Amino acid sequence: MEIIPSQIIGYRNVQSNGEIFHGFDPYTGKPLSPAFREATKTEINESIVLANSAFALYRKTSSAQRSSFLETIASNIEALGDDLLKIINEETALPLTRLTGERGRTTGQLRLFGQLLLDGKWNKEIIDEPLPDRKPVARPGMIQMQVPIGVVAVFGASNFPLAFSVAGGDTVSALASGCPVVFKAHPAHPATCQLIGNAIAKAAKETGMPDGTFSMLHGLSNEVGGALATHPLIKAVAFTGSFKGGKALYDLAARRPEPIPVYAEMGSVNPVFFLPEAVTLGAKSLALQFGQSVTMGSGQFCTNPGFCILINNEDSKLFIQHVADGLSATPIHPLLTKGITDAYKSGLEKQHKMGGASIQTITAETDIKPSIITVSAKNLMQNPEYFEEVFGPSTVAVLADSFDEMFRLAEVMPGQLTGTIHAAENDYTTARELIDLLTQKVGRVIMNGFPTGVEVCHAMVHGGPYPATTDSRVTSVGTGSIYRFTRPVCYQNIPQSLLPVSNI
Ligand code: NAP
Repeated sequence: MEIIPSQIIGYRNVQSNGEIFHGFDPYTGKPLSPAFREATKTEINESIVLANSAFALYRKTSSAQRSSFLETIASNIEALGDDLLKIINEETALPLTRLTGERGRTTGQLRLFGQLLLDGKWNKEIIDEPLPDRKPVARPGMIQMQVPIGVVAVFGASNFPLAFSVAGGDTVSALASGCPVVFKAHPAHPATCQLIGNAIAKAAKETGMPDGTFSMLHGLSNEVGGALATHPLIKAVAFTGSFKGGKALYDLAARRPEPIPVYAEMGSVNPVFFLPEAVTLGAKSLALQFGQSVTMGSGQFCTNPGFCILINNEDSKLFIQHVADGLSATPIHPLLTKGITDAYKSGLEKQHKMGGASIQTITAETDIKPSIITVSAKNLMQNPEYFEEVFGPSTVAVLADSFDEMFRLAEVMPGQLTGTIHAAENDYTTARELIDLLTQKVGRVIMNGFPTGVEVCHAMVHGGPYPATTDSRVTSVGTGSIYRFTRPVCYQNIPQSLLPVSNI
């Protein structure tokens, strides 16, 4: 099998004697060609040292220069044409229509950040004018500016091979802020990573960005990621992936002699509250839409609605049956990796074993069956493990005996990326209370919609309290995500002529 030079260190593709690995065809389980090599300790160190030297220059580039860099990355990705989509499809089994949409989202995101930089407002300068006549003491003039934090290590997830991977939101927001990026490629789609990584490295060279502004390292084992998170020249980590992975990196970074921020966006069960009048009025069509949200992308979305909560009555039971019927009729494509497939099956088994759960009849013909399980709110409170994400096309329908029980659920559930309410006008009193409770628990509150589909815009918050993320103060999607990689500096009494040029 062909082994290609695997690590991208600044402008160069390099090859040492790291361990050989390859991606897998999710349909057949067979290894895909070409093979790649895992980054060695030397390569990891080399890429970070180079990124740190690049930082000295890159942090001084103008917003217009960085904007042109981002625009060129977008064009280079588009220039890869539909061959790129074919390769991603081979590595992930994600359908070409979905991948076409994800490519548009990824290039659109690059251009949105490019525009943000050109708008000139992102740096949020705050000015306190001097008060020389103030008594008893004069006040010097002060200006607060945002400055980039340093080299960022970025980890992408397997389920978004473009939008949350090499040129995804974390990389783009870090590069936009003036921080070099060392990206840890995901072993589930190494060929995709290589193509996109090369497109970024080429754009860096074409637009005159310092060598080392972007590097990409492959890793099959956790060692590469661990070495990145603990390297003294890495100043922040951005992670999208599982709770286990995010928490492990967070703990590693916290134990460093110099702890650094780890922005980990992890799993979530994204509860959807269906209030009684909405259920009665919407019935079948609402149930079908909900089922589509559960099975979209074979359920492999961090915003997948893994929970729906309803009042225990006949209409709700009929609604659940409609959801089950919709799920049964939905074709499911293979899950991304063997690890995700095994975790899905064992997660469902665990839910069934927790007692009181009844399974609706599901007749899908693939190995991966979509699933809806019903459980009483009381059972759920006794078994909080139901709140653990089962990554795949499944949901848990929770039946509450009263609104108070529904509110109590919203109070006890762990932090989530999203919380959704379906309400008709007669449900508004309950909805108001739920909006207040969900505000304490989630990053995005949705009304009469579904959590899947995260708009890339200025107001978006893709985040939320732990364990959905490790830092509820920030978002990983939308232009606000740039501030994860800057820190404020106050310049006190510095004459205008000596002030550093803000990199607006
Ligand atoms: P993952 O297994 O956690 O992998 C993500 C990346 O982290 C990989 O590069 C992985 O490399 C690395 N990693 C994981 N554990 C590590 C450790 N202990 N030490 C060092 N590196 C480590 O996640 P995934 O399977 O790709 O993605 C699926 C999960 O992501 C789901 O739970 C989903 O909900 C979540 N997700 C969240 C969001 C969000 O925005 N919150 C978006 C998409 C997906 P190795 O494979 O080499 O270990």
